Amino acid sequence: MADRQHAVVVGGGIGGLGAALGLRRAGWRVTVLERADRFDPVGAGITLMPNALRALDALGMGSEVRALVPVQQSGGLRTSSGRWLSRWDGAAVEQLMGAPMVALHRADLHRILRAPLPAESVRTGVEVLGVGQAPDGRPRVQCAAAAAIDEPDLVVAADGIDSRVRTQRWPEVPGPAYTGLTTWRGMSPEPSGPPLDIGRSWGRGAEFGIIPLTDGRIYWFGAVEAQPGVRHDDERAAVRERFGHWHAPIRELVDTSEVVLHHDIHHLRTLPRSFVRGRVVLLGDAAHAMPPQLGQGGCQALEDAVVLAASLVRERDIDAALARYDEQRRPRTGAVARSAGQVGRLNVLANPLAVAARNMLIRLTPSAVGIRGLARFGRWEPPDIPGPSVPERAAGSPFR
Ligand SMILES: Cc1cc2nc3c(=O)[nH]c(=O)nc-3n(C[C@H](O)[C@H](O)[C@H](O)COP(=O)(O)OP(=O)(O)OC[C@H]3O[C@@H](n4cnc5c(N)ncnc54)[C@H](O)[C@@H]3O)c2cc1C
Repeated sequence: MADRQHAVVVGGGIGGLGAALGLRRAGWRVTVLERADRFDPVGAGITLMPNALRALDALGMGSEVRALVPVQQSGGLRTSSGRWLSRWDGAAVEQLMGAPMVALHRADLHRILRAPLPAESVRTGVEVLGVGQAPDGRPRVQCAAAAAIDEPDLVVAADGIDSRVRTQRWPEVPGPAYTGLTTWRGMSPEPSGPPLDIGRSWGRGAEFGIIPLTDGRIYWFGAVEAQPGVRHDDERAAVRERFGHWHAPIRELVDTSEVVLHHDIHHLRTLPRSFVRGRVVLLGDAAHAMPPQLGQGGCQALEDAVVLAASLVRERDIDAALARYDEQRRPRTGAVARSAGQVGRLNVLANPLAVAARNMLIRLTPSAVGIRGLARFGRWEPPDIPGPSVPERAAGSPFR
């Protein structure tokens, strides 16, 4: 065991846990360091595009996610009054992209990703302060209130958009920038009546999304253009004021929501010129945080995880493997991030003439064309990660 190569993964989010799964499949010993004291049920829902489902297949966890999600639903785009601008059929999406789009609670995705990892390889309550260099040139991971971890063969910085490792090791990369959009998210019981379609509704300078989950709950989000940092004493009332007059059942979803989360949306406007510096590699939002309108941020983190593991299997030399990872991931994530930025602006147009022109264009576009647009990033095929499969999780683990 001790002679296996060792990777320290900073951050236990979707990217970090995905990387840990991939590296273990590639035969590495892995230590995940997560600053949170425990994995609480996180956030609201998340949609995973077919590319993410295939990444999860490559990581050995695709069937667990598929078992949770309902039969592919149909969906579409509406105006704020509820008039359909465009509709698509879930089966057609699946046929075109070779896998369904799925939506699940983030807590379920985290649980699935954590489940195969042995308890001793995931250390919570450990905050990483920085990554230095040991005398032999290998990285040394400095931690708050814990001993430094000496000489791992590789450090994977999956510590999110505000990545401390990126700030320290890539000081030339500008920090996150505000996209101009703020978003509320919630989870509500399913309203009575016929089952809801997945859908987005567009008004002036605002959009609202409705995403039914497998457990009968509805994940919803509302995004508006706003100044950064504005908070309300009663966030639910703020959403009601902004979206309460939109089509049914938006008002009901807001009124019955278990939680109302409010976050400003930031992104990395300039991506690093390389995701690799020595034996430190950026992954997930730490490398390419993007606006969420394409639903691709988490999906790209899972793709990163698969490509990193596959590169380390294919290339015996670690530096060559990291170069291969960088070569494959930077152009791809750069293209997705650019597209997410464009879509983000299109979804919340405020000028009435621009709104009318956009809606007309959508109405005139055959739904097959719209689906092909979605397929642009969803058709990604993962490389194989040959190697030992992930060992079964040890009984008695605290992370069930
Ligand atoms: C409103 C919204 C909606 C979204 N919807 C979707 C969607 O539908 N589909 C999709 O694919 N993506 C979506 N995204 C994007 C997605 O959430 C992110 O891309 C994804 O969570 C990134 O995962 P990550 O692991 O890279 O980073 P994170 O999830 O940010 O995880 C980073 C982890 O590192 C830990 N950490 C940070 N610093 C340290 C440190 N110094 N030491 C130790 N640990 C540390 C943090 O506690 C955290 O657990 C959305 C984003 C937003 C904001």
